Amino acid sequence: MEFISLRENTYAFTGAVNIGYSVKEGKGLLIDTGLDDSAANKVLRILDEKGLPLDYCIITHAHTDHYGGADRIRNKRDLTIVAPRLEKAIMENPVLEPIYLFNGAFPPVSLRNKFLEAKGISVDKEIEAGPYQLGPFQLDILSLPGHSYGQIGVLVEGVLYASDAYFGKEALAKHIVPFITDADQTLATLHYILEQSCHGAIPGHGIYEEDFRKTVEENIALHHRHMEALEELIAVKQSCSFEGIVKEYLNEVGVSSRQLGQLLLYRTSITAYLISLERRERITMAVTQNELVVALHS
Ligand SMILES: [Zn+2]
Repeated sequence: MEFISLRENTYAFTGAVNIGYSVKEGKGLLIDTGLDDSAANKVLRILDEKGLPLDYCIITHAHTDHYGGADRIRNKRDLTIVAPRLEKAIMENPVLEPIYLFNGAFPPVSLRNKFLEAKGISVDKEIEAGPYQLGPFQLDILSLPGHSYGQIGVLVEGVLYASDAYFGKEALAKHIVPFITDADQTLATLHYILEQSCHGAIPGHGIYEEDFRKTVEENIALHHRHMEALEELIAVKQSCSFEGIVKEYLNEVGVSSRQLGQLLLYRTSITAYLISLERRERITMAVTQNELVVALHS
């Protein structure tokens, strides 16, 4: 983990996931916490070494790589934790993530690991989109749903901490199919980010860029490509079971899930793309003989 300066008073702990930090009038603000106790310990150690304060923490969304370290930080520091409402519900009841990934059934042990279920935390305050004053920090909170139901981004001192609203180029190439819960919201959020006038932006996975719009455009293009390719696949098959489409498409793009958790994350993204295609009346989804069948819209 490295601690880098982005602009005056704005920093990031970089690594597998980026954690934001800003300091003002002797108060410190953390944006997300990293995956686990180990990530949290590193953050606290670096802040201690540099004599930097920590008083507030905003958590952008309830994925464990963004809030899994919050329990440790809360135990070590007297700080205020804020998060958006729906995401807060999951952070306070973390089993909800493996539950929703597993279609609502109580999840098997293989899904109950630190990558899908963090230690629960209590969130002190709910945060909503709009101008937001947190101690001395004058923030703009942006509503950035699509990757997660209630995800937010934080604009502080002209730097946009965009969380997982978009991914850096390497992360996009690594994941092939990025995790999303709603394709239309994902695209609307990406276009909304393009409109922001700020000095630069940093995603949860990727680098800080002043010229971040090119990377955001690549995200937009990728989602369109996936949806077009899915529609083509369905056109070729005429009709196919939902699970069959998930399998064929993942094979086609070279994804190989070896674990249930991985497969369910990909499956959620494919579901989100298919729902967008259905909303736009490109495809239909109907139950036939106890099977969900996907077909081109006639
Ligand atoms: Zn995420």
